[in-house]
Amino acid sequence: MGCAPSIHVSQSGVVYCRDSDGGSNSPHPSGFSRSYHTHIHHGAVGPISIKTEATDGDPPTLVQTLAVKKERRGTITFEAETQTSRTNMKEQTGLPSQTEDMLGPMKVKKPAIRILLVFAKEDSQSDTFWWACERLGYRCELARNSEGALEAFLQKHHDLVIIDHRHSRNYDAEALCRSIRAIKSYEHAVVVAVTRKSPNEKEEPSILPLLNAGFNRRYTENTNLGACINELLMLDHSEIRARNKLKACQALFAAIENVSEAIEICNQDHQLMYVNPGYERLTGFTSQEVVGKEKGLPKSDKNSLDLHDAINTQIKKGKSWEGTVYDHRKNGDSIQQHIHISPVLGHGGKITHYVTLRRSAGQTHTSGPLQCIEKLKADSDLHLQSDCCRRKGSNEFNTRKSSLDIKSTHSGNSCFEGAGGKRRDSIARIHAMTIEAPITKVINIINAAQENCPINVVQALDKVLEILRSAELYSPQLTSTPKDNDPVTSDLVEGLMTCGSRRRYSSDIALSKNILPQFVPSSPHSHLPDVPSDVQAILDKEPQWDFDIIELERVTNKRPLLYLGMKIFSRFGVCEVLNCSEVTLRLWLQLIERNYHQINAYHNSTHAADVLHATAYFLNRDRIAGILDNMNKVAALLAAVSHDVDHPGRTNSFLCNASSELATLYNDVAVLESHHSALTFQLTWRDDRCNIFKNLSRDDYRMLRQQIIDMILATEMTRHFEHLSKFANSISKMGASARVEDDRLSSHSGGMATPEHDTLRTLENRTLINRMLIKCADIANPARPLDLCVEWAKRIAEEYCQQTDEEKERGLPVVMPVFDRASCSIPKSQISFIDYFLTDMFDAWDAFVDTPSLITHLTRNYKYWKGQAEEAERRGESVTRLEDVE
Ligand code: 5GP
Ligand code: MN
Repeated sequence: MGCAPSIHVSQSGVVYCRDSDGGSNSPHPSGFSRSYHTHIHHGAVGPISIKTEATDGDPPTLVQTLAVKKERRGTITFEAETQTSRTNMKEQTGLPSQTEDMLGPMKVKKPAIRILLVFAKEDSQSDTFWWACERLGYRCELARNSEGALEAFLQKHHDLVIIDHRHSRNYDAEALCRSIRAIKSYEHAVVVAVTRKSPNEKEEPSILPLLNAGFNRRYTENTNLGACINELLMLDHSEIRARNKLKACQALFAAIENVSEAIEICNQDHQLMYVNPGYERLTGFTSQEVVGKEKGLPKSDKNSLDLHDAINTQIKKGKSWEGTVYDHRKNGDSIQQHIHISPVLGHGGKITHYVTLRRSAGQTHTSGPLQCIEKLKADSDLHLQSDCCRRKGSNEFNTRKSSLDIKSTHSGNSCFEGAGGKRRDSIARIHAMTIEAPITKVINIINAAQENCPINVVQALDKVLEILRSAELYSPQLTSTPKDNDPVTSDLVEGLMTCGSRRRYSSDIALSKNILPQFVPSSPHSHLPDVPSDVQAILDKEPQWDFDIIELERVTNKRPLLYLGMKIFSRFGVCEVLNCSEVTLRLWLQLIERNYHQINAYHNSTHAADVLHATAYFLNRDRIAGILDNMNKVAALLAAVSHDVDHPGRTNSFLCNASSELATLYNDVAVLESHHSALTFQLTWRDDRCNIFKNLSRDDYRMLRQQIIDMILATEMTRHFEHLSKFANSISKMGASARVEDDRLSSHSGGMATPEHDTLRTLENRTLINRMLIKCADIANPARPLDLCVEWAKRIAEEYCQQTDEEKERGLPVVMPVFDRASCSIPKSQISFIDYFLTDMFDAWDAFVDTPSLITHLTRNYKYWKGQAEEAERRGESVTRLEDVE
């Protein structure tokens, strides 16, 4: 069967092949004495018969075996390489026929073992090894001197070299061993010294000189075939096997040396054992500078105080930790990085090593354990309208679009088409989100360029990145008119995102004269009267998204904030958190509600109640409830209540153009939002009876105040895209991945224990979440049930039209000319508002929070407005009068 074992003389071009495999079946070496043929591989000298002599019991000597033998440079090769013969040999010797080993999860193929015998003179010892090889099916070569041995070794890199150490005349065995050891990348060979029997049986010579020369083992001369076979088998099963696995480790090192992520390996005492070139690039430290030193956890005062605890708790449990942290580079800069620390467990589950992967935050990759997001992205590709752009692009998240075209992934219809509450679509879209400020693109390009750059360039670019990452650079520049030069959208955007016109108007207006309204609650006992049953009936539906706030406005005689506020505050235990009485809380709510202008069509206390409702609804979603703490939640509720207090029913632009007192006071910057926030605190502190903060500790008050201010200021629309891109790029993607993981683990996971959840809970991230929460609540009215959505659309249009009326009347610049009573198209303005501001925002929000009802309503309402707009067009009307909106 198959090709028979062969004997050939190396490099001579002559190969001696055995005639048949019959000999292999022989249970005894004597079976080897058969007739042989030789042939020349590269030529055609046909088989030549080789005569061998068989002797029962003892193996024939090489001289006997190889009647025809050519020698050159002192090597002779014996090969017994067919499966048949090897299997047969294994059967005879009881060797398992396993051809693969496992190195962790890696399959390592066991090579056909190659052995180099270095014997100056053939004798019974070399012959016995030779025959043992034959019996075991190992490939064998014989070298006669150091030169021949080295040359053979360099060519074939044998797994095992057996050097005759008994005679020093012909070559220096130890020098030869050293030379072999010095050959780089073949250091995994096993080298055995054959030594003489000690003349004095009682005195065993030291093995140390041999070990120092690089030998792995000593074999005391023994020409018994069984002893040689056993020796070879032992070596095969121990040293050779282990070294074969070590060779496979080189492949792993090649891999980790070439990945762009930074990889560091520490021992159990956190001493660095290894860092890859990616580490050098990321941190600026060279391998020599850090290996052997202790590696601490990420240090930066930008990290949350409990970061180390969070990491330690996780890794001590043998679990990996992943998150975004700050750590210092060699030059002292603190850079944000995604890190993944995994403990490696050894015997008895004890931690033996720590492997840490890092990459600079913002750098994107396609492999490695940091890639849950990428995995999710790949999953989601099926659902994306724009996936082809990304696939054919680079591996960067955000480079798929080449221009600042915020909405260009949307097809003619909204990207909500077919949403129907499919949060998966939202997750998909958030990963494809295109709300990138130009700065994001710049950062991505630099990140991509950093890969495989020399370390000094990487360092320089890191500095550039640090500068570019400063917050102010994140604001997108609205240089071009958005969305196909659509006048409705551009008016809307100009109106909401800019502060005043360049034209100056001197006319003073008397807006917000009532900066400190004189309202003081009528009596300290002004209890809320019993909640009337009709109010109660409506309030019962408060936990649902389709709660009817307009109906509550009606039955409460335009005081919905007080009733809804008390209901929601009691549900969230606001009194307990603030350590204040219910009376104080009621008086506060009344005070704030009274400072809303009921005369405003839109920005009245019903809007505040509506935003409070949405806020409470979001706070109750599992994801948010598990991340925010009580103080965050109370801050959100209070901010919602007071976020538009004393709103004059005019936009910031109007106030700036009109040089109002408020605009002057706040230097035209976030005029209204600054006012809402400042007034909230002024009102609260003015009278002890409604001071809900009075019992808080100084620290709690500071924290709460800071959060309320931050949230109210976040409702300012000029920074809409900044807030959204920060949220989408960090929280939303991370949250969506964590949620997919939650789903995978199914509901039994209960609490949220993944490293991503820990990261989400940092103070910084909770702030981002709260900002987005109030923003979503503030402009969620187009995502309410249709009748409510239509009502809100009418109200905002009415308020804007009133502003236009006044602008015209007073000769002020008309900030949003499309909101003119004579020509206003509510459907068009809603379509633009949804397209421009809401789609991406609610995608990001839904991906994180899971808000299917919102997405469903938004999708339906969007279609409704489209239908209305088309109908108006069919009728030839460019105008939908307010009264005509159903
Ligand atoms: P707010 O002043 O309510 O705190 O901030 C939200 C902004 O979004 C307001 O300026 C408001 O005019 C605007 N807005 C909210 N809902 C709608 C809407 O349905 N359509 C339009 N065109 N603007 C809206
Ligand atoms: Mn508002």
